Amino acid sequence: MIRPPSFAYRRIVSSAVRHPERELFCDAVPLAGLAEEYGTPLYVYSALAIRTRLSAFDAAFRGIRHTVCYSVKANSSLAILRLVARAGHGFDIVSGGELERVLWASPRSASRIVFSGVGKTRDEITRALRAGILLFNVESASELRVLAETAERFNRQARVAIRVNPDLPAKTHPYISTGLRHHKFGVPIPDAERLYAEAARHPALRVAGVSVHIGSQISDVRSFAAAIERVASFVVRLRRAGHSIHYVDGGGGLAIPYNGSRPDFRRQFSAYARAVSRPLRGLGVHLLLEPGRAIVGPAGVLLTRVLYRKTNGGRRFLIVDAAMNDLIRPTLYGAQHEIVPVRLTHAGAARGEKTDVVGPICETGDFFARRIHLPGIPEGALLAILDTGAYGASLGSNLNSRLKPPEILVDGRSARRIRRRERAGDLIRLESL
Ligand SMILES: *Cc1c(COP(=O)(O)O)cnc(C)c1O
Repeated sequence: MIRPPSFAYRRIVSSAVRHPERELFCDAVPLAGLAEEYGTPLYVYSALAIRTRLSAFDAAFRGIRHTVCYSVKANSSLAILRLVARAGHGFDIVSGGELERVLWASPRSASRIVFSGVGKTRDEITRALRAGILLFNVESASELRVLAETAERFNRQARVAIRVNPDLPAKTHPYISTGLRHHKFGVPIPDAERLYAEAARHPALRVAGVSVHIGSQISDVRSFAAAIERVASFVVRLRRAGHSIHYVDGGGGLAIPYNGSRPDFRRQFSAYARAVSRPLRGLGVHLLLEPGRAIVGPAGVLLTRVLYRKTNGGRRFLIVDAAMNDLIRPTLYGAQHEIVPVRLTHAGAARGEKTDVVGPICETGDFFARRIHLPGIPEGALLAILDTGAYGASLGSNLNSRLKPPEILVDGRSARRIRRRERAGDLIRLESL
């Protein structure tokens, strides 16, 4: 059986080339062939990698009652949502659009959905109530009141967890750190107690759990342990006050390596599971987990072709056909994705050079990498931007009226297009003159 890492070089035998060549594959499928067939830029995902990471994540938590609720915002492709549902997992959503996506991909998953987010609208809450989701992670007193009113009006009972703000720092990019007191997320623990009392009094609400999410791309598992410790002692206090706390939602946020190192993800998942589970020992809670990036991040690449080479003021540029509208992480978070040639030739490897990899958009911020070392890459060559399965396509836009790229899901030897390339007509479909 083919095992992840799903993206690996394989030697190709060809009498046409003098030097031995190696080519990047996604499982059993050569990426160059996909680029040929579907054009570039192109997102390619490995179903095998997603399934393997999901089951490894799930297995890491076998010591505690739990449900994995995949965070839809990391990659919300219907085909990937269906894959996650078929593997038996639930979902964490943050908008009405994500709710529709999950219901579209897997109508029966409604009862395994948790709804997070600081700004749920009445419409979104109504739709989620009607669908019968598992849990609302409520983030303010006002939201709790709106939820109660809405549930009452539609004659439903909403299961509620208050998302607490543990006031703990998490070492990550400031834009994706969410657990400090001055962040907009969650409710400070001292205030949350009052909200539980309020929820318990309301017949349309059922207190069911406590939730926490301290941010994303967090590699030090001690941050998670610290947050869960605060949650655990809060659970004890809430129970003493007579609340029935069945669920603890530990959120998501586990980091993946972007620097090309490939540590054993099973060990990483286990260390994370230990950190999160240990503070809950003896509480008998059902743990909910909301991983996104850790499941799909390493399972995707963005393929792009070099359009032009140029040198400006002594600086070398590779201008590629993908741009920040396809992958904004380098621009937005200073993310450094590894970039590798799809074809490794002996001749190219000898001539290494320092270069920037940039897109065609009219912004200096439109770059994928700066001053990275690459073998000599000719115009027309294919590059793969690695670890782009999470927050790649899902953060894509039509900036500069660029057409969003197609997405391909590889499953072993077969490849399936799960989203077609946008056409000019898609751009103007919703507009009128
Ligand atoms: C973004 C988010 C997640 C997923 O974060 P990852 O870093 O992708 O694991 C989980 N829960 C909530 C509430 C989120 O906002």
